[in-house]
Amino acid sequence: MLDFTFTEEQSMIRNMVRDFAQKEIAPGYKDRIKAESIPQELIKKMADIGLLGLNIPEKYGGQPKDAITVGLIIEDLARYAEDAALLVFYNYGQASFVILASDEVKEEWLPAMARGEKMVIIAATEAEAGSDLGSLRMTARKAGDYYILNGEKNRTSFAYQGHAAVVLAKTDLTSRRITPFLVPMDLPGITIAHIDDMGVESTSAGIISFEDVKIPEKYLLGDEEGKGFVETMRAFDINRVFLALMAMAKAEASLEETCAYTKQRVQFGKPLAKFEGISFKLAEAATNVELGRWLCYRTLWMKDNGVRHSKESAMVKWWCTRKAFNIIHDCLLIHGHYGYSKDLPFEQRLKDVIGGEIGDGTAEIMKLIIAREMLGREFLPY
Ligand SMILES: Cc1cc2nc3c(=O)[nH]c(=O)nc-3n(C[C@H](O)[C@H](O)[C@H](O)COP(=O)(O)OP(=O)(O)OC[C@H]3O[C@@H](n4cnc5c(N)ncnc54)[C@H](O)[C@@H]3O)c2cc1C
Repeated sequence: MLDFTFTEEQSMIRNMVRDFAQKEIAPGYKDRIKAESIPQELIKKMADIGLLGLNIPEKYGGQPKDAITVGLIIEDLARYAEDAALLVFYNYGQASFVILASDEVKEEWLPAMARGEKMVIIAATEAEAGSDLGSLRMTARKAGDYYILNGEKNRTSFAYQGHAAVVLAKTDLTSRRITPFLVPMDLPGITIAHIDDMGVESTSAGIISFEDVKIPEKYLLGDEEGKGFVETMRAFDINRVFLALMAMAKAEASLEETCAYTKQRVQFGKPLAKFEGISFKLAEAATNVELGRWLCYRTLWMKDNGVRHSKESAMVKWWCTRKAFNIIHDCLLIHGHYGYSKDLPFEQRLKDVIGGEIGDGTAEIMKLIIAREMLGREFLPY
């Protein structure tokens, strides 16, 4: 059976999220952008209505949901504000690392993540290691019952709001093997420098430096050094689908607003919607949104049904973010000079969607993954 309907529960959650996002998330986005942070009360409200802890087991206070439901939640938040969607996205992504920790560390962090009291961020990217994470230089040296961390992570979201970071490091620099650690951000030796990013400014991006940061062995994620990282990264395939859905949500919102505008804006004695130069653009955009969203939901269905989906995740990540950029750009142009004003949402959406094109792997890296899945690992260029 092929069934494209969402369940009653999924539709109910979607309506609840839309309602919440319209009332609580959308109105403050501009202020949050200016403040470069998300107020703790808002994070708490999101947790209280069940938007956090979506892959945290119930025994740690979470409320696990299937991937399709998480996709619906993230998509609907992104329609109104990128930062709220990213908050859920990072909570979900980092929980899949924290779950690898010892029971003691899990007890310490997972319930607080689910309650929205503690934010865990991810510090992976370095100056010399972006797309090529295997070349990272951050070191974790074993010293008795501790590890000593040294290095710099040069692009971390929520750097100023994170209570702990999943830090990717190497215990042996001659190897490409990576070991994740959970590092509380209040430890001595950690400093943060501001990054002036062009979009989604409320996620307070920063450069995090670690100088002789001493962490107890219990904060190693996984049973032993290097174990679990590859598996966790595979679990990360799903993040790419969420980013794709976030981009499609902004494209769809722009399209709906633009359809309404073209019906009432009159030039040359007719509504803009009557000109095929305009209506064909809208028709193309609607086609692309429909195509993109359904491949996203099919990929989430694959995840929920235990089917490998690295290729499909990579496909939607590059395709949807690029198409969304083009659609929002067209919508801006159709609004003429009004569209160029900061009073309308197109500028912020364009800037936010570019972040989605780069974060978690660029289009070129996605195409390498698709080619690897189609042709075999032996045909990778490296
Ligand atoms: C909004 C946003 C949020 C982010 N959040 C985080 C975060 O929270 N934590 C974190 O650790 N990082 C984060 N990042 C960093 C992000 O993961 C990296 O920017 C990304 O992986 C690309 O790395 P890079 O910027 O160093 O680019 P590079 O790897 O230097 O790539 C530069 C260009 O070269 C191309 N390229 C590279 N290799 C190849 C190849 N083999 N073939 C063809 N082309 C290639 C790329 O596609 C790109 O266009 C974030 C980035 C953004 C924009």
